[in-house]
Amino acid sequence: MIKLFLFDIEGTTTDIKFVHDVLFPYAEKCMEEFVIKNQDQPEVAKALSEVQQTIEEEEGIKANVDGVIKKLLHWIDIDRKHGSLKELQGLIWTSGYLKNDFKGHVYEDVKPFFLRILDRGCKIGIYSSGSVHAQKLIFGYSVEGDLTPMISYYFDTKVGGKKEKASYQNIAQEVNLSPAEILFFSDIPEELAAARDAGLNVTQLLRPGATSSQFEGITDFRVYMSLL
Ligand SMILES: [Mg+2]
Repeated sequence: MIKLFLFDIEGTTTDIKFVHDVLFPYAEKCMEEFVIKNQDQPEVAKALSEVQQTIEEEEGIKANVDGVIKKLLHWIDIDRKHGSLKELQGLIWTSGYLKNDFKGHVYEDVKPFFLRILDRGCKIGIYSSGSVHAQKLIFGYSVEGDLTPMISYYFDTKVGGKKEKASYQNIAQEVNLSPAEILFFSDIPEELAAARDAGLNVTQLLRPGATSSQFEGITDFRVYMSLL
C-alpha cells in the first residue's frame, strides 16, 4: 500500500514555464536595485565579494559594485551557473514572494489531490532539484494559498541527483518506508527509471507539451482521485 506520495515540481505540480517565464526574468529585472539597496546585508555582501573574487581570478581586475552587477547580468545572459548568482537570485525571489509580486504556480488539480491524500491518512513529499528553501516558497506563496502545512517532507539534490537510483533509496530510508510504499510522480522518464530501479512505484505526468514514455502516464491528478 502506498503511504507516501512523492512529487517532482517543474512539469508535475507546476508549469515548467513558471521558472523560465516568471522567476528568472524577475531576478534579472530586480538584480541592480536589489544589490544596490541590500549590499550591506551579510548574505548579499558575502555573495558580492565572491563575485568580486571570481572576477579578480579570471580577469585580474578589482570590480566595484557597478562592475559586479554588470557581471551578474552577463552571467544571467550566458546562463553561467555560479553559486553566488544562485544565492542572489534566491534572495530576490524571497523578497518577491513576500512583496506579493508573483505567486508560486501550482496546477489546479494539485490541491484537491493533496487533500485527498491526507484524507486517506497518507503523506506528501516533494523532491526537486531546486533548493528546499525555494520549494517551500513555491508552495507557501502559491496561487492556491499556503500548501506547506500539507507537506511532510522536502528533498533537494542533497540526497543525490534525480536520475540516480541511490537518491530514491536515501529518501525511502529517511522517511522510514520501504520503496514499495512510495509513489513518485515526475515528467522526466530518466527520473522515473531511477526511482523504479530503487523499487518505488512511478507515474509520469504528461502536462501540456510533455511526451509520453514507457511509463504509465496521466495528464493530471484527477485520474487518481477516484483510485484513492
Ligand atoms: Mg520535472
